[in-house]
Amino acid sequence: MKTGHCSCGQVTFQSEGPWRDIISCHCEECRRTTGHFWAATAVPTEKLEITNNAGLKWFRASDFATRGFCTGCGASLFFRMDEKDYTAIGAGCVDDTSDLKMVEEVFIHEKGDYYPLSEGLTHSEGFSYAWKGEDETQ
Ligand SMILES: [Zn+2]
Ligand SMILES: [Zn+2]
Repeated sequence: MKTGHCSCGQVTFQSEGPWRDIISCHCEECRRTTGHFWAATAVPTEKLEITNNAGLKWFRASDFATRGFCTGCGASLFFRMDEKDYTAIGAGCVDDTSDLKMVEEVFIHEKGDYYPLSEGLTHSEGFSYAWKGEDETQ
């Protein structure tokens, strides 16, 4: 069981997983929402337990996805595509990421000009659909 929370604690969550390795998204929407780029793990949505939703607000980020953030501290916590059964979770909000690693960077053609991509990772101009949540056990 992993736990996590936003900066102020008005959103807390936990999940037994399985937890996806971390994918960084460099698309413009992610960069504007987070202030840099979005690095997220993910769990099957049915396995995500929101243990405190006092500050949680969802908004429609595009015609295919919603995002969840904390109204108390502004933390970018969750990203969920309408057609997918998993929820991406901002890696910085997860308490213990020692067994997760960043494996892929996506939408690299929209990345900011001021930083390099990480060496040794898979780079893609689209979104990775390799992980669907329900297929993986650990
Ligand atoms: Zn908060
Ligand atoms: Zn993105």
